[in-house]
Amino acid sequence: MPESVLRRAAEEMLDWQGKGLSVMEMSHRSPEYTAIFEKTRSDFRTLLNVPDTHDVLFMQGGAVGMNAIVPLNLLKGFEQAAFVNTGAWSKKTSKEFSKYGLSRVVLDNANAQADASSACYVPECVSLLERVNGQQMAYLHYCDNETISGVEFTGQIEALADRFDCPIVADMSSNILSKPLDVASYGVIYGGAQKNIGPAGVTIAIVDKALLNRALPICPSAFTFGTVAENGSMYNTPPTYSIYIAGLVFEWLMEQGGVAWAQAQARIKADLLYDTIDQSSLYNCPVRQQDRSRMNVPFTLADESLNSKFLAQAAQRGLVQLKGHKSVGGMRASIYNAMPLEGVQALAAFMREFEKSEA
Ligand SMILES: *Cc1c(COP(=O)(O)O)cnc(C)c1O
Repeated sequence: MPESVLRRAAEEMLDWQGKGLSVMEMSHRSPEYTAIFEKTRSDFRTLLNVPDTHDVLFMQGGAVGMNAIVPLNLLKGFEQAAFVNTGAWSKKTSKEFSKYGLSRVVLDNANAQADASSACYVPECVSLLERVNGQQMAYLHYCDNETISGVEFTGQIEALADRFDCPIVADMSSNILSKPLDVASYGVIYGGAQKNIGPAGVTIAIVDKALLNRALPICPSAFTFGTVAENGSMYNTPPTYSIYIAGLVFEWLMEQGGVAWAQAQARIKADLLYDTIDQSSLYNCPVRQQDRSRMNVPFTLADESLNSKFLAQAAQRGLVQLKGHKSVGGMRASIYNAMPLEGVQALAAFMREFEKSEA
């Protein structure tokens, strides 16, 4: 979270703009909250340049919920969908889909372990065209940034979007708002808020209006894209406070220079860490160079017995939450939009000093 947003939220918490109540206490249908909500949605549309062909929905359930919500909304008239599995999150998505239809994993990087020099990578995507087209797929799903292993796409699938005969669905939970997107290329873009947008509790879905009539009859009304869209994301009570905070984050991001600023900033911050890793003999990043995430930087220590010492000394300097996901071990620095450059510089300096002290 940007510090200025937290300060503003703290100032406004007890009494929002002199109205005598907290945003938490407002009815979601009150004029005050309606104004907050509409500005938030409109700022989000501006930031990502969302075209009129697409609706922006504020929902609940998180990205994992979307793994069920998306199939329930897009499977009418179809039996299967295509999946690109590049890591833990996309695997989870294709697995959940099999509750609703035939999950076809058309591309993955599962043979990665055989080649230690490129343990994690984005597979070549052009071959997807022939694996997907003509197969009656409801959609093609992929995860634009694999948060756990630190593998990020750089537009490979977006560039091919026009050539697929089915819509593209993208999980952008951990890199949304970190770069400009051609939203028109996607059927659905979704993401939980808690990485690059705001506090947990709200999930944003950008949905092509042409797909609003493809829900299965069993899809819960509160999760039916068409119903949520018709009701302006107010079919039921949305997570009002999380949306309000997301709105403050959008204002902050616009002041900084929007997603173009976020993209430039992410490049600088990520390069600083990857250069530190590459110039060292203690640290190693298992992701192929051109596929390295700008949001999540995973790295290991050559001597794993130093892990706990590294984490303890980092914590003494206020550098926390660096332990890698339990499924991959090692370390992971998540450097979302709100992480200031100074925070990344402090980590890089600590990493160099730690290496020197262990040499
Ligand atoms: C965090 C994350 C999820 C899970 O989000 P929840 O809000 O916990 O459901 C899914 N996909 C990606 C890419 C993530 O980073």
